[in-house]
This record gives sequence, structure tokens and C-alpha cells, in this order.
Amino acid sequence: MKNRTLLMIPGPIEFEPAVLSALGAPTTSHTAANFIEAFGQALERLRQVLLSEDGQPFVLAGSGTLAMDAVGANLIEPGDRALVINTGYFGDRYTALLTRYGAQVTQLAAPVGGRPSLDEIEDALKRAAYKLVTLTHVDTSTGVITDVRGVADLAKRYGALSVVDGVCSVAGEELRMSAWGVDVVLTASQKAVGVPPGLALFVVSPRTLQVFKNRKTPVGNYYTDWTHWLPIMQAYEARKSSYFATPAVNLIWALNVSLGQILEEGLQTRFERHRALSAACKAGAAALGLSQVPQKPEWAANTMTALRYPAGVDGGEFLMRAAKAGVYLAGGLHPAIKNEYFRIGHMGATKIGDVLATIGAVEVALVQSDYRIELGSGVSAAQKAFL
Ligand code: PMP
Repeated sequence: MKNRTLLMIPGPIEFEPAVLSALGAPTTSHTAANFIEAFGQALERLRQVLLSEDGQPFVLAGSGTLAMDAVGANLIEPGDRALVINTGYFGDRYTALLTRYGAQVTQLAAPVGGRPSLDEIEDALKRAAYKLVTLTHVDTSTGVITDVRGVADLAKRYGALSVVDGVCSVAGEELRMSAWGVDVVLTASQKAVGVPPGLALFVVSPRTLQVFKNRKTPVGNYYTDWTHWLPIMQAYEARKSSYFATPAVNLIWALNVSLGQILEEGLQTRFERHRALSAACKAGAAALGLSQVPQKPEWAANTMTALRYPAGVDGGEFLMRAAKAGVYLAGGLHPAIKNEYFRIGHMGATKIGDVLATIGAVEVALVQSDYRIELGSGVSAAQKAFL
């Protein structure tokens, strides 16, 4: 593809040609046999990608925020308590969203780049009975990864549902829904799942569906009400069509193609590939003297890297220079440090060559910003880490 600038932001990402082709295929009816088969298969594959044995998958037209909204609307009744483990911008969003549905939200936040410890989380769980605990697996605003397994375990011990925002993690970071006892994982199509923006995806445990069925009040949101969607998902998985609202036919074809590719690569291989790409990117950045937003190396995600600008480098100019050098990077998102850092996404179809091109473009942009480095030192460190 000529004149293409490599898209290395933490979503949307670069997509596989076979996925993009599915979007351009002639659209059929949502009741056509080929769509019924693809939708049914996509639901089965979504469950497999989440390593869930008995979860109920949902695929709705919408973005990741709609997935967050659907979970909030269907699980919260006015007055319910929710504990939000906040590691950045998307924790703030979940607090606002759950509050809108009448939840009494307690936030457990860490300073920027940090994450609450399991002890702090357990202390909070001891102080009140929570209906659900939400956590962001990878907060895209900080690049901080949380300990999903540890939190899910605590939530279960204290009788709360664990809800994982996996928008920036699913199909990139290790996440084992059944083995770790996670109740809800929600995500969106446009990141490591590898499909252009437009699908809200989530899988919920049988325990979660039971909590939903025990509601005393109607769901305060018409479109996302699981009363409408549960029979639709069950019908398509049984290879029957059913209608509540028109599914995003071409996006679901594309989803089925991408999930098929993910399973073909193998989840373990995929998790390891993301770790290797991340290690290369972070080693390259470290060699250039760039420090990460996450306060500890083990708190840094594998799907993305958040890096602080060196003193004297103007963020806006830097990002423009990197784009001119062929790579789109993302600016800051966390309000407290918005202009102090930038973000690199390395997930989904990303190859080591893309990471090397990115570190190369970062070097060019730094030199053009009068920051002194030895050209090639970042690329070389990334190559060595990868090998
Ligand atoms: N949660 C996280 C961790 C995200 O990264 C994003 C999107 N960047 C969202 C939620 C919201 O998803 P969307 O923008 O697709 O609505």
C-alpha cells in the first residue's frame, strides 16, 4: 500500500487484509444462511478466545463504551454498591457510568502510573458488601496492567462479581476467564481483537446471568437490555436467526475471520508474541532514555507502551515528526499528564518490523526535536531484546 503511514496507536490498529475483505463483501440479510453460520461461529470463538468454558457471549453494534454501558445497565440496580479499581481514564469512565445507573460507587485509585495493591483491594472489600468490582485490565491512558487473577479471586471470596474492562487487553494479554473465575469480560473490536471499530463484545459467567435474572427493577436502558439480547445470542449460536435490532452483518463476518486467525495462531503463542513485541519496544525506548508512565516494569502492559517526553521536547511537534517519518503515535489521554507523554500500541497483527520502524521514527522525531541520542541505539536495543 503506497503512502501508508503505519498506525501504531493503542487502537484502532492495523488490520489483516482478510478481515478488511470481509467488510467489503456484498451484505446479505441477517437471516441468510451464511450470516447465521458466521455469527454462530463468532460467538463460539469469542468464548474460546476468552478461555471461558461456560460463559454467555454477546456481540452488539457499538463501541467499547457500549459494552461497559450494557454491563452497568444490566447488573446495577439503584443503590447497589460497586467498587471501581481505578488505574486511569477508563476507571473514571466506569465510575461515571455506574453512578448514572444509581450505583453507590467507591473508587480505589492509585497515583498516575500506579495501581492499588491486592491488600488495599481486600481492605476495601472488607469494609462494605459490593455487588460488583470493576477493573481495567490495561488502562489505555497509563499503560498500567492490573492483576486480574488476584482481583477476581478476591471478588469471589467477598461475594462480588468481577467485571474486567478488557478493551485494551483481550486477545493480547493473558486472560483466562474460567480458570481465574472472572465473571464478566468486556471488550471492543478495534484493538487486539483485530476488527475495525464498531462492535461491543462481552462474555458473562452463569453466576452473572443469575444475578441479572434476579433483578427486581427493569433495566433502565432499552437497547442494551439483556432480556432482548440473550435470546438473540442463543438463537444464532444454535444456528437460527432471530431479530431484536439489526446486527452489523459485515463487521460480524470480519469478527469471525479475525477470531479464527487468533485461534489459529494459538492463544499461548499470541500472548508470548505480545510479550516479545512489548519487551522490544520498551528496551528500545529505555535505550533512548525515555521513561515509562507505569511506575514499575511489572505494572506495564504488553499491548502498549506509554512513554514520557524528555524535558524540552514538544509533544505536538514530536508526534507530527514521527508521522512524517512514517508512524502514527498517540498523544496523552490521562488528564493529569496529558501533554507529558505519548503512547505506542503494539498489538494484534503487529510484527517486530513494525516495532522497529516505530522506534526508528521515534529516534528521528527526537533528533529533530533537538534531543541528543545516538541514532540506531534504540532500534538496536529493540532488536537485541527481541532476539
Ligand atoms: N476501556 C478501555 C481500556 C479503552 O481503551 C477504551 C477505548 N480506548 C474504552 C474502554 C472505550 O472504548 P471505545 O472507545 O471503543 O468506546
